[in-house]
Amino acid sequence: MIRSRRAWNARSAGRAVRPARCGCCGAETPPATAPSPRWPAGRAAPRVVVVGSGPAGSWAALRLAEAGVPVTIVEQGKPVQPRRRDLALLTRGQLTESSNYCFGEGGAGTYSDGKLYTRAKDRGGVAEVIADLVRFGAPDDIAVDSRPHVGSNRLPRVLQALRTHLAGLGVDYRFETTVAGLRGAQGRVRAVRLAGGDEIPADVVVLAVGHSARSMYAWAAADGIALERKAIAIGVRIEHPQPLIDELQYGAAAGHPKLPPAFYELTGTDSDRGVYSFCMCPGGWIVPAATEADGVVVNGMSLSRRDSPFANAGLVVTVAADDFGPAAAGPLAGIELQRRVEQAAFRVGGGRFRAPAQRLADFLDGRASTSVGASSYRPGLAPADLTAVLPEFVAQALRGGLRRIGARLPGFLFPDAMLVAAETRTSAPVRLVRDAQTLESPSLGGLFPCGEGAGYAGGIISAALDGARVATRVLAGG
Ligand SMILES: Cc1cc2nc3c(=O)[nH]c(=O)nc-3n(C[C@H](O)[C@H](O)[C@H](O)COP(=O)(O)OP(=O)(O)OC[C@H]3O[C@@H](n4cnc5c(N)ncnc54)[C@H](O)[C@@H]3O)c2cc1C
Repeated sequence: MIRSRRAWNARSAGRAVRPARCGCCGAETPPATAPSPRWPAGRAAPRVVVVGSGPAGSWAALRLAEAGVPVTIVEQGKPVQPRRRDLALLTRGQLTESSNYCFGEGGAGTYSDGKLYTRAKDRGGVAEVIADLVRFGAPDDIAVDSRPHVGSNRLPRVLQALRTHLAGLGVDYRFETTVAGLRGAQGRVRAVRLAGGDEIPADVVVLAVGHSARSMYAWAAADGIALERKAIAIGVRIEHPQPLIDELQYGAAAGHPKLPPAFYELTGTDSDRGVYSFCMCPGGWIVPAATEADGVVVNGMSLSRRDSPFANAGLVVTVAADDFGPAAAGPLAGIELQRRVEQAAFRVGGGRFRAPAQRLADFLDGRASTSVGASSYRPGLAPADLTAVLPEFVAQALRGGLRRIGARLPGFLFPDAMLVAAETRTSAPVRLVRDAQTLESPSLGGLFPCGEGAGYAGGIISAALDGARVATRVLAGG
């Protein structure tokens, strides 16, 4: 059974925020009091270029700009409003490679569920990020919900308020501008090189490009920036009717108007491989999260009211770095594995970002589906045999995992639940190495790998926390 849980979790919210109000009891939560650090007066501040405007880049910029450090944010995608038009085009089968569900203002989390829960241990830091979100217009109750979420209809407004605040502090935003490399001298970074050939001088570069920045991994490897393989997870999105999940979780109380659409978190792991649900979106939509013209990638999102008739979640299998291929295949072999799966999904889906899909009963019985059920995935589904898309070890582990989940929660094995492929971008398949203390790359002084793309975060809040952590290290140099 799922309960709606709320608890005060904004313990040490560290900045001047308007007081939050508990959504259930109305009690006012204390405003933040801790003073923000400042760059020391009389010392020349470094010129900081932040690459990527996702949560990691944005929170690095926020902490630095509020400390009086000059920051330029370089983002290959568009601001939230024009980005929305590119999402609409993608729904109709047309991808803009630099502006989509992964790329653009706010990064990959902008048009997401905006789920804000995290396993990060730095609860004080989490509380500060939540307080920041409230300060920029997110609803107060995210400070007291134990599973806070904002919704993709509200996040863009929060990001616009954040941008207005940062611009007011002098932060220079460069949208639709791609960083294509770095220039260093005497072991330190001197500038970022832009795709058109121009440079922006920099004493510090925060590389916060997200897990889908494949071109960055390629130029970083070519430039000798230390990077290594990192384990990922690959699988499908599973979609059920939301009322069915409500019944499984709430029993006789399902349908009660006071109950939110039910959530689940499931594991079907055996001793060999992890199989688990991931990023569950109650009342949500499966969205096309592709960034390349010949690959299908799916992910999930919800609006704040979570009112679609469907429940979806990633159902994924852990893929170890050794599964990417022999060591000789190099540190980028995980990207190649992701790409092979995404391209197979594109081929089997038949183009225009239609996604291959199989009914759950067909998948378990090992037969191709010949038709598909209703789904929230707008570009459309193509009936398929997902063993033609997924690596065999992933398909096998998924079958075993589903059976184990079904043994514990039989109703979950609804025969017409749809399995939609491919869920490949659960995290970065590469880690940019950094010093545990200074957080700098050992390859280039002043280069700070940051956030999910660098391998140090997984989710909106942990990425923002990593951005704040990097900012603290930069400020420590002052
Ligand atoms: C559809 C969807 C739903 C999600 N739902 C949730 C959720 O509900 N809760 C949650 O916690 N997480 C969710 N996530 C994951 C979450 O969005 C990421 O974990 C988080 O955004 C990572 O933050 P980041 O700042 O490290 O990178 P990103 O958010 O990926 O941001 C990186 C930015 O860098 C830019 N960039 C990349 N390369 C370059 C370059 N060379 N030059 C200039 N700019 C560049 C990109 O355009 C991008 O905007 C979701 C992701 C997706 C795609």
